[in-house]
Amino acid sequence: MTDPTTLSAVDQVAALRAGDLDAAGLFAAYRERAAADDTNSFTWLADGPDDAAAAVPDGARARSVDGPEPTFDVPADDALSVRGLPVAVKDLFCVTGVPTASCSELLRGYRPPHTATAVARLQAGGATVLGKTNQDEFAMGSSNENSAFGAVLNPWDRTRVPGGSSGGSAAAVAAGLAPVALGTDTGGSVRQPAALCGVVGLKPTYGSVSRFGMIAFASSLDQAGVLARDVRDAALVLAHLTGAADPRDSTSIGWQGDALGLPSADRLDGLRIGVPTDLLGEGIDPGVRASFDAALRTAEELGASIVEITLPHARHALAAYYVIAPAEASSNLARFDGVRYGNRAAADDLVSLYTRTRHDGFGPEVRRRIMLGTFALSAGYYDAYYGRAQQVRTKVVEDFATAHEQVDLIATPTSPTVAWGLGERTDDPWAMYRADVMTLPQSLAGVPAISIPCGLDDGLPVGLQLSGPAFGEPRILDAAHALERAIGFDGTPPRSGRTGEGGAGGADATSGGGAA
Ligand code: GLN
Repeated sequence: MTDPTTLSAVDQVAALRAGDLDAAGLFAAYRERAAADDTNSFTWLADGPDDAAAAVPDGARARSVDGPEPTFDVPADDALSVRGLPVAVKDLFCVTGVPTASCSELLRGYRPPHTATAVARLQAGGATVLGKTNQDEFAMGSSNENSAFGAVLNPWDRTRVPGGSSGGSAAAVAAGLAPVALGTDTGGSVRQPAALCGVVGLKPTYGSVSRFGMIAFASSLDQAGVLARDVRDAALVLAHLTGAADPRDSTSIGWQGDALGLPSADRLDGLRIGVPTDLLGEGIDPGVRASFDAALRTAEELGASIVEITLPHARHALAAYYVIAPAEASSNLARFDGVRYGNRAAADDLVSLYTRTRHDGFGPEVRRRIMLGTFALSAGYYDAYYGRAQQVRTKVVEDFATAHEQVDLIATPTSPTVAWGLGERTDDPWAMYRADVMTLPQSLAGVPAISIPCGLDDGLPVGLQLSGPAFGEPRILDAAHALERAIGFDGTPPRSGRTGEGGAGGADATSGGGAA
């Protein structure tokens, strides 16, 4: 049969069910590709589907630190099975016994005693962990250059960044090293690398996927998400991530939307798509804008109406996020003091143990965030910074609620630019932070959003972001699926070596993009 790694995840599990493919063979095919990877996407690879740490053959076996072992509801529908599917997992998801460092020097070598619920739910459905993927340290970044495990190279152009912070997950899926991957999105970390790597990135509604076992960055924003080659694959994984509320995450609220299935829509009749003019001002590359406009025209051809809307406070989301997220990070990261977790610096007394451990363990961006956050929370400044940022957040939430009285979905480019050169923005945090300008409003509002590839600019992928109200995932997935089909983007990076022999381009070397 054809190389199974060229099939979508949905087709792989169908072939597994039909007996046309065996799980060990599928795992080995990806294992081989991932082991030959030259993009630095993985920080750890499982030996095989039966690797004790990676496989859970007899249903759920996620160990909790305290209390009884939980069990997880698995979708009953056969079409939603993930049995035998290898899944790449962002490093910050704890997996029992598997190195989990959130790509920080401080946690290098740490092996947690428990498995994150998001991973355990997939394992309960029969999926296996293929490996852990590279990311920005503690998920702080937009380029994957803040990793203690080195930068990740963009499979479309290895001199460029893959985006971040889930850069390894996005690059792995784009390069065909994994069928699907888990990422996390605090301010755009699933959607933005998906856009820059030409894959689909889905950030679900805040609270719909348990955060248990995810190493925290900013707890009121962190959300597990999916990177996939197409929208149906993303929907397949989402059906497993969601379900009953997780008692081990107090912000987990259980799935409250319509039943999740595989999207099949190919029309958008009657759908009202809002375009927030106030977010589409300066700073968007003309090529990105052109692909975005072309995608809107495609949406109209499929029957949607495009409506200009305003999100009056969304332009302040960036400033608010870069107060709120560091504030929460400064508190979350206080636990890394060398006493209970991770690596401990040699020291003669307790205070220098704390300071040396944290000084040696944290990279520059993490230190910057801790200082920013500590400052914003300090007495005398709390109201001026943190309090004010929370007020802005409330306004952004209201903006989305008001907009959705008028429209079903909201569309923007995912990122104002395509992938930039490695090292180009590392000395300019502000330029780096601006990459998130169109993904942060949805994060502050806690609403679901997807990025799908909508074309190429200068040979590099452009992402289209569609967001909706809380638990609006079914409608977002339907619309994204219809658009994806109409746009016909070819997600094969020109030099990905998907033929496997020698990794040099092969039959796909000349493939180009769809709507560009
Ligand atoms: N790029 C943003 C940041 O650096 C978002 C990161 C994320 O979503 N984890 O904070």
